[in-house]
Amino acid sequence: MTDLTLEGVSKVYGETTALRGIDLAVEDGEFFTLVGPSGCGKTTTLRTIAGFEEPTAGSVRFDDREMTGVPPEDRDVGVVFQNYALFPHMTVAENVGYGLRFRDPPAGTTREERILELLELVDLAGMGERRPSQLSGGQRQRVSLARALAPEPGLLLLDEPMSALDARLRETLRRQVKRIQSELEITTIYVTHDQEEALAISDRVAVVRAGTVEQVGTPKEIYRRPATRFVAEFIGDNNVFEGEVRTRSSDELRVRVSGREFDIVPADSLAEAGTGLESGDRLAFCVRPEALTPTVETNRLSVTVETSEFLGETVRVHGRWNGTPIVLRLAEPPDADELTVGFAPDGAHVVELESDARGND
Ligand code: ATP
Repeated sequence: MTDLTLEGVSKVYGETTALRGIDLAVEDGEFFTLVGPSGCGKTTTLRTIAGFEEPTAGSVRFDDREMTGVPPEDRDVGVVFQNYALFPHMTVAENVGYGLRFRDPPAGTTREERILELLELVDLAGMGERRPSQLSGGQRQRVSLARALAPEPGLLLLDEPMSALDARLRETLRRQVKRIQSELEITTIYVTHDQEEALAISDRVAVVRAGTVEQVGTPKEIYRRPATRFVAEFIGDNNVFEGEVRTRSSDELRVRVSGREFDIVPADSLAEAGTGLESGDRLAFCVRPEALTPTVETNRLSVTVETSEFLGETVRVHGRWNGTPIVLRLAEPPDADELTVGFAPDGAHVVELESDARGND
């Protein structure tokens, strides 16, 4: 298997700078996801790893081997695209076998054995003689996956493989992909714009924004400790409050937001980052909907309800407090237009500090 390093990778297309110095280190066997809004450079990063694009600057290395100039077919990668790209005139088995056009099957296996093995792996045993048109979208995507895996590549690259499928199928397929990936322990780079999918499937996630990596971390770190306001707002629902520091003690800040004062205890890493904070500094902190509830008695605020969506298990409520948009998750639909909720001081997470701009002086 393979580990992967990108160092200072940039890509310029004429007037457009798609990538601005991407640094990534993906470990052997990791399920690593690139997530970010449309146009942020996820596909370009993946294509550069695959060798379909050469970087304008920077380096791509597989196990310390420099890949610049190495054509895609010599890179030991399997790629699955959003559109299945299967040959309609070939059977499922022939499509999978096409994955072996440049490389022999793994030692000790015939081509036919390898195809059967892969069809079994992707839960399509017995379907080898069908044509792609006789399969569902999810089954077709599993044929693409089997084809990509046929030569036993060191690296598997998946570009939005589920985006053409309906929600239910996406969930099933993502469990299958995850199972196959862990079974094979193959280093996998997965591209998606779906942040929920990114959290659900990955060992680690890189949040990409405008051609740069904004944060790399485990799904838990990204969700609970977003490094920037962009990550806080892009990954999951969040409430962002902008305010001004009034007082600070060793671990607690009193912050004034829209004429109201809140007490917050920034998480440890940010307490460090915030050592330069002083009274009068501006900052932004976020509170997840699950931490902003009617049952918490501290940091109370009164929310005007605007809409509520019944999601089955929970109800997502959108509203406003002094002009600040608020999103809540409740067990039951609200029975009034005003709701009073609160958050614990350690339920707040600081995402933007004015002292950062001052260099923590
Ligand atoms: P999406 O989720 O919509 O697929 P993405 O994050 O994968 O987006 P990319 O496809 O990598 O984004 O594109 C990044 C930027 O580079 C965009 O501004 C895009 O228009 C531009 N771009 C990509 N490929 C080319 C190309 N071949 N020529 C010119 N510009 C390109």
